Amino acid sequence: MSGYGKTRTNLKEHSLAPKKRFGQNFLVHKQTAEAIVRSGDIYPDDIIVEIGVGLGALTVPMAAVAKEVIGIEIDSGIIKFHEEEQDLPENVTLIHQDVLKVGFGDLAEKCGGTLKILANLPYSISHPFLFKLIENRNLISQATVMLQKEVAVRLLAPPNCKEYGIPTILLSSCATITKKMILKPAEFHPRPKIDSMVITIDFTKPLELPPYDFKLFTRLVKISFSQRRKTILNTLSGALFFVTDADKESKAENKAITEQAIIDAGYDPKLRPEVLSVADFVALTNVFEKRMATI
Ligand code: SAM
Repeated sequence: MSGYGKTRTNLKEHSLAPKKRFGQNFLVHKQTAEAIVRSGDIYPDDIIVEIGVGLGALTVPMAAVAKEVIGIEIDSGIIKFHEEEQDLPENVTLIHQDVLKVGFGDLAEKCGGTLKILANLPYSISHPFLFKLIENRNLISQATVMLQKEVAVRLLAPPNCKEYGIPTILLSSCATITKKMILKPAEFHPRPKIDSMVITIDFTKPLELPPYDFKLFTRLVKISFSQRRKTILNTLSGALFFVTDADKESKAENKAITEQAIIDAGYDPKLRPEVLSVADFVALTNVFEKRMATI
């Protein structure tokens, strides 16, 4: 029997007390795990990368519908558990590693080109993992992930609300995000204090945008939201995009150029960042890039 069918007993027998630092909240209901796997749109030819195998709650139903599952797990106790129990199907390969240190290029090669990911993510790494997805956007086709509900809500937020911010804009510039299901604390052992949400991030369906420099776009978005109550003129001019010196005169010159660049892109310099859409930030990026090229 796979581990999750008797989660508490298995953990006890193998002296595997759930580790908070690894975000270990294991799924306990078979039907829920199967529903999550169904939400991942897995086909018989797919090689799926699972982050955080745990006791195999998702791994087993995933292996039943996919060609292969590559499971990445940081906890040596869990790796040992599966070695001793031999409870995972033959088409599952375990990699004992921290996913944040895994090179997605090599992994994508192993998977035949691009990565399809499914994971009940440890809450402890949700932010760095989302940024890793953004960084490796060209290597990923789809990621279906369970996150803290409040983090998922932020990713789905439209402009003009307090949840809208840096990860929302960066991720939705390169992918379509779809809400799949909400899970209550009773679905896990131990029970977390908050609800969770499963979302699919589909990198094969990015927003239609004109060409732009992603690095500069990321910088602009991060600086604009570094103090979200300030106007975009104040935050962006503070970053000195258009001058190389930081003396008083250069700063004043930089502020004037920044103001003109924002106006040239079609926006009021007094706007707050949360009113700007992804397309607006792209427009700003392109005007900034052109203006910076003349410096
Ligand atoms: N998939 C299992 C389930 O749904 O019951 C376990 C999910 S549990 C929320 C998260 C799993 O990710 C744990 O097994 C934990 O040890 C593992 N994990 C935590 N941090 C990790 C990291 N940086 N890299 C790989 N695995 C990690």
